[in-house]
Amino acid sequence: MQNTLKLFEQIVKDLLEDEERNPVAEYVPEDELFERLDLRLKRDPISEEEFESVLRELVMTTPRTATNAFFNQLFGGRNEKAILGDLLAVVLNNSMYTYKAAGPQVGVEKSILREVCNLIGWGEKADGTLAPGGSMTNLMSMLMARDAKDPNYRFKGASSRMTIYTSADSHYSIPKNAAFSGIGRDNVRYVPTDNYGKINLAALENMLDDDVQNSYNPVLLNLTAGTTVLGAFDPIAQARIITDRFKMWLHVDGAYCGSVLFSQQYKRLIAGIELVDSFSFNAHKMIGTPLSCSVIVVKDKKYLHDSFSNDANYLYQTAHDDFNLGKTSLQCGRRNDALKFWTLWKSVGTKGLEKIVDHQFYLADIARRYVRASDDYTLYSFDDSISVCFNYKGIPTRTLCTALYEESELLVGYGSFNGEEFVRLVTINAQNDKEDIINFFQKLEAFVADYPELLETHKELNA
Ligand SMILES: *Cc1c(COP(=O)(O)O)cnc(C)c1O
Repeated sequence: MQNTLKLFEQIVKDLLEDEERNPVAEYVPEDELFERLDLRLKRDPISEEEFESVLRELVMTTPRTATNAFFNQLFGGRNEKAILGDLLAVVLNNSMYTYKAAGPQVGVEKSILREVCNLIGWGEKADGTLAPGGSMTNLMSMLMARDAKDPNYRFKGASSRMTIYTSADSHYSIPKNAAFSGIGRDNVRYVPTDNYGKINLAALENMLDDDVQNSYNPVLLNLTAGTTVLGAFDPIAQARIITDRFKMWLHVDGAYCGSVLFSQQYKRLIAGIELVDSFSFNAHKMIGTPLSCSVIVVKDKKYLHDSFSNDANYLYQTAHDDFNLGKTSLQCGRRNDALKFWTLWKSVGTKGLEKIVDHQFYLADIARRYVRASDDYTLYSFDDSISVCFNYKGIPTRTLCTALYEESELLVGYGSFNGEEFVRLVTINAQNDKEDIINFFQKLEAFVADYPELLETHKELNA
């Protein structure tokens, strides 16, 4: 093990040094890369030297997600305290289903869940769990919504035509989960959004009235705290009135920006969160833990038990069920995703998490100000969001983002809203500073100056 740790340390050190010089790993087209890098698995072992060499090359050629040039998805940066926790979780290798197998790690997970519930204002009836990502915590909410509406569903299968409601700008895991849950993709109702990308509740109410008239059974309203493209927050308190009228489950998908819960200043964006039935957020997004760390909490833990517990004599042999977390989880064997969040939270306190969240809004303000200050840019996103969506000199965004990637300059993605396509800069890496954001724009501008043909693509498309 000592030699392995030494090798690990060496490779990481080399990576960190190289990242300083090259924040973007050199872009190599697929066929060329896989010709250079021999990943094929063979019957015979290779020498230790060959092994180290191929491992190092694999690490060095992997996209760099922790540098100040990565703005491509809704995660980034490298939080040392969280990494320490995750490394220890790997070395300890517990499975989180029982107290017998995980011991104090059960308490680590429970502490996180308890404090999240406290921050919401929920008492002892509330509880939660962790699952491998926001898509899966969203699935759990849908299964609980389904079973709450029809407790026989899990025994007998479908007895009515259920429908679920989510905004047109919500995450694609909702229709996917509708297929998994037996509700069916065609029974997802996409509610239109307003000019800011928030769900239109008047339209929702009309859809519900129609569906009930047509003997559908509405079970779930999924709201989003931070839509994937614009970072918009759906209104929670007003939505609760409607879900009460139709006796539906209310879930808030806060995978992207639900962590505003930790901020005194920004938790207003999820005002009314104490009124929902379930709420999920990804600590691997705004909080910056390594992937994956997705938390779901429910106001009444009875629903977690009803939908997810199974008796298993070979597994649950000791201790009270409150410490056998397998009774409320989606999986059987389950990785310790809690420890990385706990090591970070324990060390910086809730105030430290608040700083992480607030800093991202500060960086987004810097970016918006930069975009607004120049006629070369058009802004498509809004205040109170860490997604800053813009266009530069009318250059088609796909062309621009792909060119930046293929020239190993910046990793940034694009999105669209109301028929407009734009670059989406996400200020989710709280290790970035004001200078990193300004530097992003200056790099982009210098790049376009070096490749004037990018401006031509704009003229061609408009011709
Ligand atoms: C990222 C995201 C998800 C999915 O989370 P994963 O952890 O990637 O599965 C769900 N909803 C929203 C709004 C997201 O931004």
